[in-house]
Amino acid sequence: MAAILELRNLTKDYPGQRAVDGITLSIEAGSFFSLLGPSGCGKTTTLRLIGGFEEPTAGEVLLRGEVVNQRRPYERNVSTVFQSYALFPHLSAWENIAFGLRRRRTPEAEIHERVARTLALVNLEGKRASRPAQLSGGERQRVALARSLVLEPDVLLLDEPLAALDPKLRQQMRLELKALERRVGISFLLVTHDQEEALSLSDRLAVMNCGVIEQIGTPEEVYLRPRTRFVAAFLGEVNWLDDIGVRPEATRVCPQDRAAATGDAARCRKAIVTGLVFLGDRIQVHTQLATGEPVMAQLPRGQGAFGTGDPVAIWWHPDDEMRFE
Ligand code: ADP
Ligand code: MG
Repeated sequence: MAAILELRNLTKDYPGQRAVDGITLSIEAGSFFSLLGPSGCGKTTTLRLIGGFEEPTAGEVLLRGEVVNQRRPYERNVSTVFQSYALFPHLSAWENIAFGLRRRRTPEAEIHERVARTLALVNLEGKRASRPAQLSGGERQRVALARSLVLEPDVLLLDEPLAALDPKLRQQMRLELKALERRVGISFLLVTHDQEEALSLSDRLAVMNCGVIEQIGTPEEVYLRPRTRFVAAFLGEVNWLDDIGVRPEATRVCPQDRAAATGDAARCRKAIVTGLVFLGDRIQVHTQLATGEPVMAQLPRGQGAFGTGDPVAIWWHPDDEMRFE
């Protein structure tokens, strides 16, 4: 598969600070890629470099194999959905979506046809005359998406597009975004600090920290086989045991007098239950090792009836060990 977008050693310095530090990655045509990392790690700056709103200090941006560093934003076939949506408040949904096509001097008949098709794509046919203030958060989000999609970019750049939505709507929009990506065949590059969002949407993702990519892989690879402690901890909870990590859902608990039955003394520790947290579908069993270190196991509801103060053994399978560089 050909790379639709490539970054080679991309670097951006601001006065006194390196915001993006030698990023190299490649995104296949028609795929969903995410940049995942904490606030301030350089995600937005990377998108702005790709979009042409910032000039790199070093390195290259390639679209369809061509270096585009010297091209203006409108000369690059990418489109950005900004974190703030940045809709025109005085224009209807229809006119917001048509705006980019009008600026490109697209013939009126074609504008009509493409805006109508895109409105249908994001399920907003009934809201074509509404202004942004008359739309819900989710609807505004869809207008912002439609405004970019209508331009038929090679790559759609999305900067934390769901962050402003409440959790329930965010989950719904997550499904819609994935369905949309499948329908339109455009490559999506999503930037987010939400690990669930990145894991559930992406074909591949890059985990960023302090301007650097720590790991690139499929969601399964980065979650189950994180290369660094940072990646392991950013993608979920980790029990740190000696020099390895074990996820809470891979951590097993049994009564202490049955510890020998686990059959692997090297992967078994005595502990005391310090608390139980009921989460509806699952239960967290918080424990403390003799060394004082906390270890948390996450069990399906109804599994294991433990009480605070119980002596237990926690253990794990060798396959569930995460080892770091
Ligand atoms: P993210 O989107 O991951 O939260 P950003 O790319 O916005 O991170 O910012 C990365 C770093 O660069 C931050 O420390 C931020 O303060 C700094 N930064 C971003 N834009 C500018 C700018 N225009 N001038 C100076 N520093 C900036
Ligand atoms: Mg940002």
